Amino acid sequence: MDYYCSTKFTDMAVHVGSRLLYNCCKAYPERVNLDWLEDNPGKLFHTDTMLEDRKLMLDNKSCVSCHHGCYKYEEQGLPSTRHDQENMIINNVQSPLQNLQISLSTDCNLTCVYCSPEWSTRWQKDIDKNGSYNLEGVDIRNDNWHKLWAKVKQKSRSTESRFFKLLLKEIGLAKKLKRIEVLGGEPLLNNQLDELISKGEDKRLDIISGLGVSKSRLLTYLKKHEGKNISFKISGETTGENFEFIRYGSKWTDFCEKVKMISEHGFDIEFISTISNLTILDFPNFYNKFKNDYKININFLTGRPFLLPHVLDSKSKEIFKTWIGQQNDTSILEPLRNITDKDIQEVDKKNLFDYLTQFSDRRKLSLDFLPKNFQTWCGLIT
Ligand code: SF4
Ligand code: SF4
Repeated sequence: MDYYCSTKFTDMAVHVGSRLLYNCCKAYPERVNLDWLEDNPGKLFHTDTMLEDRKLMLDNKSCVSCHHGCYKYEEQGLPSTRHDQENMIINNVQSPLQNLQISLSTDCNLTCVYCSPEWSTRWQKDIDKNGSYNLEGVDIRNDNWHKLWAKVKQKSRSTESRFFKLLLKEIGLAKKLKRIEVLGGEPLLNNQLDELISKGEDKRLDIISGLGVSKSRLLTYLKKHEGKNISFKISGETTGENFEFIRYGSKWTDFCEKVKMISEHGFDIEFISTISNLTILDFPNFYNKFKNDYKININFLTGRPFLLPHVLDSKSKEIFKTWIGQQNDTSILEPLRNITDKDIQEVDKKNLFDYLTQFSDRRKLSLDFLPKNFQTWCGLIT
């Protein structure tokens, strides 16, 4: 196996609330030592762990962080983010940071079906109220860190956090940094976003959002930052009831209106469509609605085996394959052509049933919007 990945040499993600560094966003994180960072300004992208991992990669050896993010999926014949990259060779372990992703906090009003307490406070609240999801081989629960962070938040969570200040300083020192992506939680809910926009004004700034904010708050942002080098990458992949299930907490008509508002204020929009089995059932409608006006980027789901695109009934697979076969846009859709082909494991089918049942029960949602053939195959109706 070839272990090289250029993203290790160019990209870093930072989770401000938990002080976690990911090299890259899919990799296993490390915790930043603030005293060390204060003594080593400009070195956030060159921690000992990152340098060691890059050396291992150049020696064509596996490292733990990328095993977590990519290699373990590839070993099972599953897609990985690594294979979606342009892999030009960089062999300097001290290479400068080019792309930075920042999660300001996990504050979010949505519980998207494939998200988790790691990224969304609404997910954390759901687990607090209704308990963990205990599926076969997969637990979705609040870890100790989430509990601790929730308590800190109730007392005071200063926007002037020491790490955030140090991070702004690092951005100022990162002369080769081209692009900052701000993600969530929901970045539009976070007041630190304004400071970040000011600090990164000479870079391209992408706001990755599920649009889980009120229209009035969104409008305030749009007016305030009109004309700046900011673009929106909006998470979305299906329409109507399927959308409202997958992106629970958001309404489809509201979502469409917000997309229109952003566009009318002159900001560039791209979509990030995360492809799961539930997405496959309605992605063609989403694609047809937006493909002429906006770029649609495909994101591959990881970490939830029972939501992978191949865990699907044969009729739904056939319908999707026929649709893909009729499309001309091979650049975006080519990776999806054979995505449903893999054999289904019984455990994934069982977990899918358990997950859908628990997810919908907790929210008192009907699953009737799902195609009958899918429901029957899954055991939701007999
Ligand atoms: S191998 Fe995967 S986890 Fe590691 S840097 Fe590349 S894309 Fe990220
Ligand atoms: S909007 Fe983002 S952070 Fe919030 S639940 Fe959805 S995927 Fe998670």
